Amino acid sequence: MWLFGVVALGALFLLKKRDRLSKHFTLEQLTASQTAKERRIPNDPNPAQIENLRSLATHTLDPLFSLIGPFQLTSGFRSVQLNQAVGGIANSKHLLGKAVDLRSTRYPPAEIVLLIQQTGIPYDELIAYSGHVHLAVNGSGYSGSGRSGGRSF
Ligand SMILES: [Zn+2]
Repeated sequence: MWLFGVVALGALFLLKKRDRLSKHFTLEQLTASQTAKERRIPNDPNPAQIENLRSLATHTLDPLFSLIGPFQLTSGFRSVQLNQAVGGIANSKHLLGKAVDLRSTRYPPAEIVLLIQQTGIPYDELIAYSGHVHLAVNGSGYSGSGRSGGRSF
């Protein structure tokens, strides 16, 4: 049992950016940032944050993909430094790997929000901006990745 735990933890750390987090999404898609690239800001989630991204991708983004087809993630996980650089609020769920900004070439943001609300895809925050939808989850309603103990950061 102990050995298994160590091996599992090791596998988590070896997760590469191209690896799939869910059926339709890779770690790279959920961490990509033009600002981080341009300003050379590190944006690497830790294992707990990766698990949050995996949960978000599996329970919310994959069903959304099935609903509206391919869409673009304009912002996913943000390190503290990146969040400050893009003007994110201090307690943004992007910092935890529990939020994404997305847009579709086929549906305007307000319509995406409506579709999500009508279909029961899980979310906690859902906001239509002029150019994108901000979607965040709280994670506590998810099964499969274990309980977090209700701690918030
Ligand atoms: Zn956002």
